Amino acid sequence: MKMAWLKPARDEFRERLESGRLAHALLLSGPAGTGKLDLALEIAAGLLCQEESWPACGSCRSCQLLSTGAHPDYRKLTFELNDKGNLRTEIVIEQVRNLISSLQLTTTISPRKIALLHPAEAMNRNAANALLKTLEEPPGDTVMILVSDDPSRLPVTIRSRCQNLHVRLPETRVALEWLMENGASDPLEAESALQAAARSPLRARAMLEDGSTAHYSLVSSTLDDMLKGHCASGQAVAALADLDPRQLWTWLSLCSAEKIRRNIDAKKTAKLLSQLQAAADRNRYLLATQVRKDLLLQDWLIQWAQLKA
Ligand SMILES: [Zn+2]
Repeated sequence: MKMAWLKPARDEFRERLESGRLAHALLLSGPAGTGKLDLALEIAAGLLCQEESWPACGSCRSCQLLSTGAHPDYRKLTFELNDKGNLRTEIVIEQVRNLISSLQLTTTISPRKIALLHPAEAMNRNAANALLKTLEEPPGDTVMILVSDDPSRLPVTIRSRCQNLHVRLPETRVALEWLMENGASDPLEAESALQAAARSPLRARAMLEDGSTAHYSLVSSTLDDMLKGHCASGQAVAALADLDPRQLWTWLSLCSAEKIRRNIDAKKTAKLLSQLQAAADRNRYLLATQVRKDLLLQDWLIQWAQLKA
């Protein structure tokens, strides 16, 4: 799946590789749903390839093993199941320790080893601390690739030890072209999915596939109805209660941002809207805690209703 907007980051990486300026730790960052993980895998394949070519040759033993997921010099750290069989919501210290000890083993087939951490901001504080020394001096020829949607949530001690590589959101035109080439059939539908996905093409494609663009429209129209006085906050809670909570908070944040954009003159409401947007972003992270989710939503919608006054 060719993603034209990755070219600047890809070129930057290639330039560093060819001029010998590639660091041992890379922080690949940029908005969610822009193909960072695809680029990270492409980089990993190139650095592991036995031909030492860029891009990876695709046919050597290293390339073949990587495609089957059995490459001995490649490690990926992401969310794992806990003892109860549930997917963890953070990357924990045991995972980092296991990674570090496995990197101590000698290289077997490739010119170097690769460790990919995704999403890097999911490391909790202990896990991040355990990684610091390895980031500074990775064992042997290891290259660590940290992938993050939100590097501001990474400790500064981690960020300062990494070389940055940034992926940007594509222009709307480019994103729409890509959506139409990759499964979208209706340009108008593609456009509304792209808007619901905050211009992220991969997210928009996922929304077109799972039909959740309709859910975004429900959130958006419910908020509009509240402001027109057609819907009380209690009814709004009931209307939105069945939506996936993480998506719901993302959409509430997006709807606030969209309204800020449309109401540039109204200074009074702009401040409240920024607060609402920040609260929606914060509440998304609170979902992992014991907080009452229905009360979070109720409080937020009551605040939203104040925009009407
Ligand atoms: Zn190869």
